Amino acid sequence: MKTRNEGLTIQNIKGIGEETALQLNAMGIHSVLDLLEYLPYRYEDYRLRDLEEVAHDERVTVEGKVHSEPALMFYGRKKSRLTMRILVGRNLVQAVFFNQPYLKKKINLHDTVTVTGKWDKNRQIITAQYFQSGPHDKQGDFEPVYSLKGSVKNNTLRKFIKKAFNDYGHLIHENLPVHLMEKYKLSSRKDALYHLHFPDSTEDMKQARRRFVYEEFLLFQLKMQALRKFEREHSSGMSQQYDLEKVKSFIDSLPFPLTDAQKRVVNEISADMKSPYRMNRLLQGDVGSGKTVVSAIALYSSVTAGYQGALMVPTEILAEQHANSLSELLGTMGLSVALLTSSVKGKKRRLLLDKLKEGEIDILIGTHALIQDEVEFKHLGLVVTDEQHRFGVNQRRVLREKGESPDVLFMTATPIPRTLAITVFGEMDVSIIDQMPAGRKSIETYWAKADMLSRVLSFMDKELDQGRQAYVICPLIEESDKLDVQNAIDVYNQLVHYFEGRYKVGLMHGRLHPEDKDGVMREFSANHLQVLVSTTVVEVGVNVPNATFMLIYDAERFGLSQLHQLRGRVGRGEHQSYCILLAEPKTEVGKERMKIMTETNDGFVLSEKDLELRGPGDFFGRKQSGLPEFKVADMVHDYRALEVARDDAQALIASSQFWSDPEFEPLREYLSGSGILEGEKLD
Ligand code: ADP
Ligand code: MG
Repeated sequence: MKTRNEGLTIQNIKGIGEETALQLNAMGIHSVLDLLEYLPYRYEDYRLRDLEEVAHDERVTVEGKVHSEPALMFYGRKKSRLTMRILVGRNLVQAVFFNQPYLKKKINLHDTVTVTGKWDKNRQIITAQYFQSGPHDKQGDFEPVYSLKGSVKNNTLRKFIKKAFNDYGHLIHENLPVHLMEKYKLSSRKDALYHLHFPDSTEDMKQARRRFVYEEFLLFQLKMQALRKFEREHSSGMSQQYDLEKVKSFIDSLPFPLTDAQKRVVNEISADMKSPYRMNRLLQGDVGSGKTVVSAIALYSSVTAGYQGALMVPTEILAEQHANSLSELLGTMGLSVALLTSSVKGKKRRLLLDKLKEGEIDILIGTHALIQDEVEFKHLGLVVTDEQHRFGVNQRRVLREKGESPDVLFMTATPIPRTLAITVFGEMDVSIIDQMPAGRKSIETYWAKADMLSRVLSFMDKELDQGRQAYVICPLIEESDKLDVQNAIDVYNQLVHYFEGRYKVGLMHGRLHPEDKDGVMREFSANHLQVLVSTTVVEVGVNVPNATFMLIYDAERFGLSQLHQLRGRVGRGEHQSYCILLAEPKTEVGKERMKIMTETNDGFVLSEKDLELRGPGDFFGRKQSGLPEFKVADMVHDYRALEVARDDAQALIASSQFWSDPEFEPLREYLSGSGILEGEKLD
């Protein structure tokens, strides 16, 4: 593909000489098209508003008469504050300009001025960043703000762009297919670009933005879907011809009917297994939504097709739990289920590995031990990994490369907001169990302040008196000077004292050796310990159905998804469960998070909220961000468009016209420019 840079260079625009061109180059602007597509990252909103409607801390522009002599005060070195009262309508507003002493000469008593700044609703103060003398200029309600480098000024750039439009606007070609533009009533690329640079009205801006949001998402999803198609067609998967009758009778033998959501995902997984492509599927479902059963069905299907299955989990204790529940489920169907952990040693281990190689073991369950070289399957058909996010990319790859090309199912109980799922895992297929089995008691969650601790403890006492068990979660292990948080060891000591002679308290944290962790967990599982004080290490999949009470210290320090994940440790048995969030959030957002936790048990609702409150970058944490960057679109707020664009991209990629009709040439060119069609990886 031709690169942009080979197009018409910016020096063709009057006023752009060599020096300016260099500065623009540094901003990534080389050609006239680059310039036309250099979008503002925000707009200064100069619309006047009724102060009654402006929220606290919002940016606002007001116009009024200076009502008091501007007073300038210096403090510290080079710091100053200029204050004055301004009569805005019937409101007397105080305006404060920090560190702009020169304005004192410009603003006089009785002047009419326009001031933009941050509104403090409570104190009727505007902390001003911008001022204009005279009445507000109605022509420019919105001023595009570009990110700049060097000595290029915002206004200069706007002039260049205006010129570029006048002289070369015809170079802007449409790239979206007509039928999609008509379907969504999208404005043309040229019009939309114009209105993003020169907005006359909110409606113009809205329409222009809408078009580009769609364009960005569609292009991104086209890449993902093309990559997916490419990977499917170039991976030699296997078509697993499972025995439908047997699978059905296994499902019938379960002690409960599958939920509709479980049925749907079982169908999705089965179709993948049967297809000649290699399955690469993410199964999401809230804690307790019944993923294990679904994986058991898939593993069983694979065995009926003549293959072996593997289930990989992050910890040994989870491996044991899964081995127990799968043996129970699948043992009755005559399958041999084996557990491989680091404690299976010597002769026992050799024997197990031999049997695996001979195909005498149908299902193998374990931790990372499963991906060691010595572990050889006879005919591995399906690999399931639980808590997918805990495995590194490499480990997943190694596992996938075991066997010829087994189908892979990644399961996770961390609900990832839909938007992120179809974006970050765009090249994977995603199945979602969005429904809980009927009759599940929801966990009652309460938010308590620190001074209510004694009441909370007597609540806990009552649960323990009825034979139940309790988790107590703390954010940190040891006391820290910086953070005023309760630490696990402190809390442990307090509770040992509190329950002395009545109940046994255990302590678990990340610095314990893995064997010790497992040891403590076993003690708790067996009810030798009634209270378990722990850091977040209990987060993953532990199942102690008799535990009905969870107390979380300093809950405001956790993200919503994490709180939800923690809370999922209770509510796993027949008894009503409770979760108490001990928290003193200082911010409004913090308070809102606590409130949401008490209001919903739905992990997807919480993860959407979490995303909204924390933003996509923070959601996965720094390391794992890998999120695409969009210039105009916002994955959180525009998620509907993202879904629509994905469906459209899927349909386009699947249609034969897409690969031949001239109409789609710009999109094909875009794809070949991104290297996907040559089989390069998206990184
Ligand atoms: P997950 O792995 O998604 O956390 P599990 O598969 O462990 O959930 O299921 C949680 C509990 O719900 C288990 O005790 C399981 O037997 C039960 N269960 C699963 N599916 C159903 C269903 N359709 N109806 C009733 N109970 C179910
Ligand atoms: Mg599970």
